[in-house]
Amino acid sequence: MKKFIICFWFFMLICFLIPNLFLIDKINLKSPSKTNDLNGKIDNTKNENATVPDKIKLLLTQTNDVVELDFDDYIKGVLIGEVPISYEVEALKAQAIVARTYTMYKLINNPASHSGADMCDDINCCQCYKTKEYAFASWDDKEENEKWAKLENAVTETKNRYITYNGEIISAFFHAHSGGQTENVKYVWGGEEIPYLQSVSGNEDDLFQETKSFTKTEFAELIKDVVKDYDKNNYEINIIDYTGSGRVDNLQIGNEILKATELRKLIGIRSTNFRVEKADDGTITFYTIGYGHGVGMSQEGANQMAKSGYTCEEIIKHYYTGVEIQN
Ligand SMILES: [Zn+2]
Repeated sequence: MKKFIICFWFFMLICFLIPNLFLIDKINLKSPSKTNDLNGKIDNTKNENATVPDKIKLLLTQTNDVVELDFDDYIKGVLIGEVPISYEVEALKAQAIVARTYTMYKLINNPASHSGADMCDDINCCQCYKTKEYAFASWDDKEENEKWAKLENAVTETKNRYITYNGEIISAFFHAHSGGQTENVKYVWGGEEIPYLQSVSGNEDDLFQETKSFTKTEFAELIKDVVKDYDKNNYEINIIDYTGSGRVDNLQIGNEILKATELRKLIGIRSTNFRVEKADDGTITFYTIGYGHGVGMSQEGANQMAKSGYTCEEIIKHYYTGVEIQN
């Protein structure tokens, strides 16, 4: 009987414990960092082993010329176009790293997409770009060399630095002013959650408010292609719901339900963080807070953080959740 019990437990050991040892081994050997968190509209499969390129081809939209630039000279031109030179040094450095990352992402995932050029200088398409000559013409003569040195240092001191999430280069969206809270990317371009583009505190010290009014005829003209069967003399406009950051998500105009992001494009208001009022004479007024889509880094918030003593790395890690900065 004793022999039988020993044989029985030995048999059980072989049947259950040994296969489990193999299973544990397999789990331990599994790669810890490869996830598909970034799928949806963002293709991350080509982002591994990214290197900072030497050159970039830029389309100048005013003349339709394509010019080839040294990569960091291009980044200097983006800084001229995108942020005031009066910004704090650490905010300029954060913008340089973000602009470099944003450009590298486009080069990897969508190269030569502009008539053979990699990027264009249109702020509404890629990133704004301005030349050194443009900067010197707009700066006070006595300060231009000092300002250029400040801008150049922001780019050279961050040379080859870019942002990754799980080892893969990120889609580094940025905007002018969050109005207090940045936006989760899913509310702006749809698709799935992107773990590093969550809603976080904007850190600006003001709300950047704007009031914009339209007569009933102006408003009807702007929305006519989207809102069908719309009677400009008799309609209701109602906000249906808000996003997690407090921006308007959907609203109803007449019989049509539309996204606030779509309305923003149609009528040219600064942000989807608004309230709306309709007067008796049909004039419609939007009161907006912040400026831009609200996703990723707030440029104004970055400057406020720099004023409070945060470094460019801390600023970037605040606006892009869970990222690393590579050299
Ligand atoms: Zn473009």
